[in-house]
Amino acid sequence: MSTAPTTFRRLCVFCGSSKGARESYIRAAQQLGRELAARQIELVYGGGNVGLMGAVANSVLSAGGRVTGVITEHLTRFEIGHIEIHDLRVVKTMHERKAAMAELADGFIALPGGIGTYEEFFEVLTWAQLGIHSKPCALLNVDGFYDPLMSLMNHAVEESFVRAAHRDLIVTGTEPGALLDQMANYRAPQVHKWIDKSTV
Ligand code: AMP
Repeated sequence: MSTAPTTFRRLCVFCGSSKGARESYIRAAQQLGRELAARQIELVYGGGNVGLMGAVANSVLSAGGRVTGVITEHLTRFEIGHIEIHDLRVVKTMHERKAAMAELADGFIALPGGIGTYEEFFEVLTWAQLGIHSKPCALLNVDGFYDPLMSLMNHAVEESFVRAAHRDLIVTGTEPGALLDQMANYRAPQVHKWIDKSTV
């Protein structure tokens, strides 16, 4: 089996439709955008021009990279703004939107964000846990933003709701470049959700 790092064509970024309270969140979004463009990795994201979503997309575009957005008809009415992305796909429902983003991307990164960001990230993580895909699911843990979430994951492992191997599916890092390197070296483990029924 080859151990060469994966070359990604497209990565999907989930992140806040708000900017958040710290300048470091925006800086991280912009840095991630530059890293994606430098590595010729296309950005797939929610298509908006607001908050960290706009920051990462505009950064990829300014650095000469390629961007695909997937947005619902409903959201275009509010928050698309003027953003000249290469491919804007307008879908009917949020479910179609998530399915399209998941299909297009070779991996997923969550930047700081709110409920929408967690929902998107946990859906692709759940699919990884079930073996529906073997793409890396990563958290960019800017200024410790995701420490509480990782504490919850550790708690869930201690309380026997999550297997350690499934918690360990989450790739974490604090620097965009280093995180992308880790994702390129990620190999999906062979663990199945439902093997051990003795504790059910
Ligand atoms: P949150 O983390 O709660 O800010 O949610 C991020 C999610 O908000 C995105 O992935 C979208 O589902 C949704 N969203 C809100 N505004 C927009 C927008 N203008 N363009 C695209 N998605 C948006």
